[in-house]
Amino acid sequence: MLQPFANEALTDFTNPENRKLMEEALANVEDQFGREYPMLIGGRDATSEAKITSYNPAKREEVVGIAQRGTREDAEAALDAAWKAFEGWRWTRPEERAACLVTLAAKMREHKFELSSWMVYEVGKNWIEADADMAEAIDFCEFYAREAIRYGAVRPMHPWPGETNELAYIPLGAGAAIPPWNFPAAILVGLAVGPVAAGNTIVVKPASDSPIIAAKVMELVKESGFPDGVINFVTGSGSDVGEALVESPRTRFINFTGSREVGLSIVEKAAKRREGQRWIKRVAAEMGGKDATIVDSEADVDAAAEGVAIAAFGFQGQKCSACSRAIVDAKVYDAFLEKLIARTKQIKVGSTREQSNWMGPVINEGAFKKISAYIETGSKEGNLVVGGEASREEGYFIQPTIIEGVGMKAKIAQEEIFGPVLTVIKARDFDHAIEIFNGTEYGLTGGIFTRNAEKIERATRECHAGNFYINRKITGALVGVQPFGGYNMSGTCAKAGGSDYLLLFLQAKSICQKI
Ligand code: NAP
Ligand code: MG
Repeated sequence: MLQPFANEALTDFTNPENRKLMEEALANVEDQFGREYPMLIGGRDATSEAKITSYNPAKREEVVGIAQRGTREDAEAALDAAWKAFEGWRWTRPEERAACLVTLAAKMREHKFELSSWMVYEVGKNWIEADADMAEAIDFCEFYAREAIRYGAVRPMHPWPGETNELAYIPLGAGAAIPPWNFPAAILVGLAVGPVAAGNTIVVKPASDSPIIAAKVMELVKESGFPDGVINFVTGSGSDVGEALVESPRTRFINFTGSREVGLSIVEKAAKRREGQRWIKRVAAEMGGKDATIVDSEADVDAAAEGVAIAAFGFQGQKCSACSRAIVDAKVYDAFLEKLIARTKQIKVGSTREQSNWMGPVINEGAFKKISAYIETGSKEGNLVVGGEASREEGYFIQPTIIEGVGMKAKIAQEEIFGPVLTVIKARDFDHAIEIFNGTEYGLTGGIFTRNAEKIERATRECHAGNFYINRKITGALVGVQPFGGYNMSGTCAKAGGSDYLLLFLQAKSICQKI
């Protein structure tokens, strides 16, 4: 019997013992730089001719590791292995499946500092963000393990004379998990083990910016008791391996998290029936956001400045949940902006190898250029009041940037920037603030700072966002506590870490017996 679910505790880095463990892990991981990692297909290591080199975004020339650049053939081989494994895994008792997930959680817990260190180097997370990413990965395993058991129970139906009636949930088959690089452990693990807990098998294709942390997680997957072929791992580009998985007539479902552009292309391609395809592919596509925090005239302005700054600039603003718009009532606009600027100026930017640097680099050259271009555009659309400086000399560093006095229809008020750039918009009053809040095509996270109970009620009802927060930061959703996923162009509202999640990868069977 499993104990009730409890969220993994975050590491307290003010404790010198934990700091020491993290320093040791960082040094140990650094010693392993430049190694090559295989793919995993049907329980066997696999390599390809071409390779992917993963660099440290804080030190552009530093090679973190080498991954395989898999091909369409590798994707097909992995689907073969996944279907083969499905024949056994689909009939494996939910308790046994759950045990594999719990084992994986335990192994990740045991190697937490090491895995966090890989994230520090490969994607530039600070210690706290990397640790939270690991905690979430562990939570997904623990939570979905229990969910698998819950869904495994046959449900009695409304009684009918002369018959027994039941409803059972059965898995779909072999599918693909296609995660982004920004939560390279948590989202990768969640997208893979959710469906697998439900009795499906999977081919995981990690993002090309974070294949090494993915490979490190896979080393633990191999030791966790999953039968060969239940979880397969194929590294390679989105346009090769990713598309092959999306288009194959043998792919039963696609579990995707990433950009709106790629998400929409997947939805479109998956909808087309291919030669030999016997089902309608299921697609869960979680995409971007243009998330906002309303700072009302009756807000605690200090708390609002703190909450907005953390949500805007945490992990360099590269979270789908990041606060990229602050919508501020005219009555507190100047007071709030002054506090926000002061708070933002305290943020230290640099390599997150050092604990003291709260903000690290952005992920790569492409992101650096794209964000820089938004800063240039934004400086014309509003007034740049903090930041704006960017340097790619050593790594891709961009200072936390605030652009104020921006109209709600401006480019930087509408498009996802995915970097440390906050747009501040002035609202005439509360109604106007809500109108601005809902004035984008996204609907992922959002929140309000106010002391007024009526406004809290109205904002909760009227602000169209999948995750809504009152008087706190809008990032950091916890598994089981704040199921995650948004509306409109933010995706299919999968609600990761929620009790409806496994249903996305299950189908129900009604069983009626005459007595
Ligand atoms: P991305 O460019 O869309 O990539 C996501 C994944 O899709 C990667 O593994 C990528 O592989 C793959 N891919 C790319 N092109 C593909 C294709 N044609 N067919 C199949 N797969 C393809 O997103 P990202 O830059 O990694 O992540 C940032 C985005 O994710 C942001 O928009 C952010 O808001 C969003 N996000 C959303 C959530 C949420 O829960 N809603 C959570 C986190 C992030 P390659 O890396 O090889 O290109
Ligand atoms: Mg990299």
